[in-house]
Amino acid sequence: MNWFQEKLYEHHKQMLSMDSVLYHWRTEFQDVLIFENATFGKVLVLDGILQLTERDNHIYHEMIAHVPLMAHGSARDVLIIGGGDGGTLKEVLKHPVERATLVEIDGEVIDLSRRFLPDVSSGAFDDPRANVLVMDGTRYIAETEDRFDVIIIDSTDPMGPGEPLFTADFYKACRRRLRPGGMIVVQSGAPFFQPGELEMVCQRLSGSFPGVRPYLAPVPTYAGGMLALVAAAESRDALRPPIDALRERFGVLQGRTRYYSPEVHRAAFALAPSYEPFSLRE
Ligand code: SAM
Repeated sequence: MNWFQEKLYEHHKQMLSMDSVLYHWRTEFQDVLIFENATFGKVLVLDGILQLTERDNHIYHEMIAHVPLMAHGSARDVLIIGGGDGGTLKEVLKHPVERATLVEIDGEVIDLSRRFLPDVSSGAFDDPRANVLVMDGTRYIAETEDRFDVIIIDSTDPMGPGEPLFTADFYKACRRRLRPGGMIVVQSGAPFFQPGELEMVCQRLSGSFPGVRPYLAPVPTYAGGMLALVAAAESRDALRPPIDALRERFGVLQGRTRYYSPEVHRAAFALAPSYEPFSLRE
């Protein structure tokens, strides 16, 4: 049996059996591997780091999309930076948004995901509200004059092409592209193994946003089983509205989510004491 080994840390690695390799190639930006695993279905790996599996990607995508959109409550224009697999786009388009712009640096990730992982995006790329651009997210943010209600940074980790998406300057530029009441969410790594990444994202976002708040999503195939996301807005309370407000807004998603619910939204912001230092005060 062939095994995929994810070696992110010196003394820890995880392995998934590669029951069949569907694709392996180096694009202009990164190494792309897509294989099939009996437990998790098809798996997408970029530069040796597991990005998603068919079986558990909905948890990540629902939590990165619905938390900011439900907290905002009336988003019309949404920007996704990265996210070439289309999973976040699919979740965003479940809301009555007018436009969802996706800016992915590597067009091959979009093409390969559509070909090998069609259930992740489920037709989202063909939705007339989807505006898909293949370019570097930092260049897009620097050049666009458009404004957004929610910006979602669905990127790889801070290495390779994803590195500039984790700078304080990038977050400042994102803030300028948000409408009043706007919100941003940043994929911030595995907090058990990468506490530094979570702390860095919180610190850097707090240079541009008064309200910064980490939250957690359990994703079995991410090392350590838990993924950290950081949301930022004009106030911390805006990110975690009262349960009644979330329940009222949930109608639009009712029966269309497998992980997200108003109760899960509120609970995701409850942090263990060891994560509290990252939970910046206003
Ligand atoms: N779920 C994910 C994870 O495990 O971290 C992220 C998934 S998504 C596939 C990440 C995407 O971000 C990749 O397709 C990558 O090409 C894209 N990306 C990286 N750097 C970028 C940049 N500077 N601008 C736009 N997209 C970028």
